Amino acid sequence: MALKNEYEVIIVGYGLLGQLSGLLLSKLGVKTAIIERKKDINLLPKSSVVDGQSLRFTNAINIYSEIKNLFNTPEFLDYTLPDGKIIQRSINKETSDGYPNVSTFYQPDLEVVLRKKIAESDLIDLFLQHELISFKEEEDKVSLKCKDISKNKLIEIGSNYLLACDGVNSSIRKKLKISSEYLKYNKDWLIVDIDIKNKSLMNNTIRQICDLERPTSFIYLSNKRYRWEFQLLPGENRDEMLQDKKIFSLLKKYIDKNVYSISRRDIFRFKAECSQNWLKNKIILLGGAAYQLPPFGYQSLNSEIRDINNLCWKLKLVLKNKCKPDILLSYNAEREPVAKETISSSLAMGQLIDSIAVSFKKNIPLEESVPPEARIQAFKDTRNSLEDDKKNKKIFYDSDVTKSFNPSIPNFYMTIDKERVLFDDLLGLDFCIFTAGKYNFSKKIIRFLDEINAKIYDTTNIVCEDMFMNESFKNYSFIIRPDRKIFGVSDNNNSLEKICEDLMRKLFFINIR
Ligand SMILES: Cc1cc2nc3c(=O)[nH]c(=O)nc-3n(C[C@H](O)[C@H](O)[C@H](O)COP(=O)(O)OP(=O)(O)OC[C@H]3O[C@@H](n4cnc5c(N)ncnc54)[C@H](O)[C@@H]3O)c2cc1C
Repeated sequence: MALKNEYEVIIVGYGLLGQLSGLLLSKLGVKTAIIERKKDINLLPKSSVVDGQSLRFTNAINIYSEIKNLFNTPEFLDYTLPDGKIIQRSINKETSDGYPNVSTFYQPDLEVVLRKKIAESDLIDLFLQHELISFKEEEDKVSLKCKDISKNKLIEIGSNYLLACDGVNSSIRKKLKISSEYLKYNKDWLIVDIDIKNKSLMNNTIRQICDLERPTSFIYLSNKRYRWEFQLLPGENRDEMLQDKKIFSLLKKYIDKNVYSISRRDIFRFKAECSQNWLKNKIILLGGAAYQLPPFGYQSLNSEIRDINNLCWKLKLVLKNKCKPDILLSYNAEREPVAKETISSSLAMGQLIDSIAVSFKKNIPLEESVPPEARIQAFKDTRNSLEDDKKNKKIFYDSDVTKSFNPSIPNFYMTIDKERVLFDDLLGLDFCIFTAGKYNFSKKIIRFLDEINAKIYDTTNIVCEDMFMNESFKNYSFIIRPDRKIFGVSDNNNSLEKICEDLMRKLFFINIR
């Protein structure tokens, strides 16, 4: 059979990550195929929590208005003792970005909408019931052999790039022989979703239940749906744990057996590990294929969304022949340290939960039972905290003023030419430059900005409702990347022209005469 090299990208895996990657790539004008061995939505319990940044991403790809109603905003995030006593309660507020800090959802409902959007896209071809069997790189293409499961025959397709969204057991990672660094977490958890028969009985919260006997968490998913997660203890048998009798006994102390039915159950092994390489030439690992997170903090899906947001605009610039493939190395260099920070943060949260449980059980002050590592909750700015090799591959301008800003630019309302708009509405999915006053770029830079489709705004005409950004726009010019990260900020020693020159170099821009 002739090899059809008709795709710019092939995504293997049609989980949430494959779906969102496909939608972002189609927004960027990239012709994509998605390969998935299953036919229907996976009904096992999986993601249930996302943060405001992830919702902001869904708005950037124009799907937020259609999925908004599927998300529940928990009122509180609690740490409690097994008897229900609240140790610490955080109120879950909206951020200044306009999205709640934390939202819960029922994954199959979300997948129904995402699948409908994918079916509507002319740029995505979907191969359900197709299993990736093998792949090889040939000059400038990757060719794949897939088994059409319903017809029991092999097909061949090809693309410029292959994205591994094939989950934690990624066969692509295994075939590439990429090893993983073990980051010291490996535990089975029983996940149970229940439906309440009548109206809601429990609070709209997310709870970490600090139980020394068995770490447990509780999530209010939506109107009548709830989730419990129970860590398995050494020696416990997976099959026995999944039986009704066992689940009823575990839930007994939280909810009356007569008011609910079990809708989904599974045992999932959570691990902390990270692949040594996230890409090999034209094959790129994302999400679970690249790294795995422990369950504490519910960060996996958020982190995976950051991966695709980081990668896809770079891939587009390469596919559209604007930049050399070398820029893709920055995906690994930028995302790997952040993923490792997220893993450490999740592990620290697990230790904190254990410490609270110890303190309660042994009746000692909490401060004495919390190990120092557990206090490291906050993410560090990892843009410049790496060894030189990786630092040089990152696409950020290196100056003190640039580093003084949080790399993620917030979303806020602004008035531009008397019209009130959201900052994100101006940003779109390309580079944006905000100049503090009129700026005369050289012809070379004008051509470069034109080629990468950058939009330029003079901030003299802009009034931001965010006071800090309003002041900043008066004093500095900003270059914002398509993933809403600040590339660089100008100052007296770093002119906008100089920063654009650096951007051109870091993007490996292909000079067109
Ligand atoms: C119990 C549980 C709870 C979780 N809770 C949260 C949470 O609260 N918040 C959060 O952020 N994250 C959570 N996660 C993590 C989260 O579910 C995943 O990280 C997220 O769903 C993204 O998954 P994915 O698309 O990468 O992989 P998957 O959903 O595993 O999808 C991979 C797909 O690839 C397909 N595939 C694999 N190999 C092949 C092949 N050779 N050929 C064709 N197709 C193939 C598979 O069939 C599958 O459909 C949880 C995970 C679990 C298991």
